[in-house]
Amino acid sequence: MRYISTRGQSPALTFEEAMMTGLARDGGLYVPEDVPTLTKAQIAAMAGKSYEDVAFEVMRPFIGDTFSDAQFKDLIAKAYAGFGHAARAPLVQLAPNHFLLELFHGPTLAFKDFAMQLIGQMFQAALTRSGERITIVGATSGDTGSAAIEAFRGLQNVDVFILFPHGRVSEVQRRQMTTPVEDNVHALAMDGDFDDCQAMLKDMFNDFAFRDEVRLAGVNSINWGRVLAQVVYYFTAAVSLGAPHREVSFTVPTGNFGDIFAGYIAKKMGLPIADLVVATNQNDILHRTLQTGAYTKEGVVPSISPSMDIQVSSNFERALFDAYGRDGAAVAAQMDDLKSGGFNISQGAYQMLKDTFQSGRASEAETSAAIKHYLAHHGELLCPHSAVGVHVAEDHLGTVPMVTLATAHPAKFPDAVKAASGVAAPLPPRMADLYDRPERVTRVPNDMATLQALIKERIKV
Ligand SMILES: *Cc1c(COP(=O)(O)O)cnc(C)c1O
Repeated sequence: MRYISTRGQSPALTFEEAMMTGLARDGGLYVPEDVPTLTKAQIAAMAGKSYEDVAFEVMRPFIGDTFSDAQFKDLIAKAYAGFGHAARAPLVQLAPNHFLLELFHGPTLAFKDFAMQLIGQMFQAALTRSGERITIVGATSGDTGSAAIEAFRGLQNVDVFILFPHGRVSEVQRRQMTTPVEDNVHALAMDGDFDDCQAMLKDMFNDFAFRDEVRLAGVNSINWGRVLAQVVYYFTAAVSLGAPHREVSFTVPTGNFGDIFAGYIAKKMGLPIADLVVATNQNDILHRTLQTGAYTKEGVVPSISPSMDIQVSSNFERALFDAYGRDGAAVAAQMDDLKSGGFNISQGAYQMLKDTFQSGRASEAETSAAIKHYLAHHGELLCPHSAVGVHVAEDHLGTVPMVTLATAHPAKFPDAVKAASGVAAPLPPRMADLYDRPERVTRVPNDMATLQALIKERIKV
């Protein structure tokens, strides 16, 4: 299995190389050369199996010979051992044909733990084998950073630096990043918004001298390993609702397009997914794009679902690559136009995207109303991101079962949840002392030279 860049100018890599590299050197994202398919019988055989067993079946064809079967099984087992629910991703019923996939039982209470915990195990195994040391730098709107820090804290051979927009993450998110005591953890509060953090990260990756000097590695949602780990729960959820003998639809609260892209991969692998619905908050570039064919940047307006406050959606490039018939030069040209504000997707590519993804948007008022309504009438306390999903899903309910992804635990966003529902969502007992732990954070300007100097000084190169 080889991985190729969406911009067509970087060499093909193995799974291990693509995972360790993150962003391709031509600025593109790695995608598998071919998506392997599973037969109906293979999917049917997943019924009744553990999350870990399904994870092995789904991911095995993608990893080549990076890990032996026995080692890969062991890494998967370790990755999910710390989850607070035996099913890992339990499905609860909201209404007759509407289900909620609870992806918030990991150590930082958001779905990003599914990918990050596994990436942590895979990185450590690969680095132990090669004897190398790496520097992970990530940008976060809140949940990626806490999940990355949780996955890499205390691991040998890794330093982890996380850039988050100062003042724009929730207190729980911030504390999850600033309270770990391990020396290899560096939380950096940057002046700016999430897009500034993400742009800074991209610039650092494009400074090849720096990238090589500090052995930079990325674990943002552009990392193929992350997308891959997220494909698994589409299978466990669909199979428990009758796939492959029955179709299932999914609604996915979306920011960087990683989670929904994993659903697209699951469909390409043969899972009978009817609709894949993109749900955005008021920062609705993806919804606007799917409605109009024009991908145009607008400023980010902070919302109560901050992990989706994004104006440029990195993983969308992977969908564009397929929409353009895997023409890397066409993707590169569009991405160039994005620097000056946006681009129009060509007719054929737009048609493919419209056929593949549906979309909807929830305003702030609609999000709060959904939190209130679902608590009062369905007994479910939703986080604001999940509420965006549920609100949008309501417009797409039909005869096919709909699964909405619940991407975070309500306790991760207590202020918005309380304001909407009147109910305080308590933290699970295993992290009840979060508010008492001392914080450690460095405030940094939106300036690359300052940041590079800080990173070199902390890792002593
Ligand atoms: C990251 C995140 C999202 C958006 O996921 P993408 O893969 O970036 O689309 C949605 N909800 C929560 C809680 C998140 O942390």
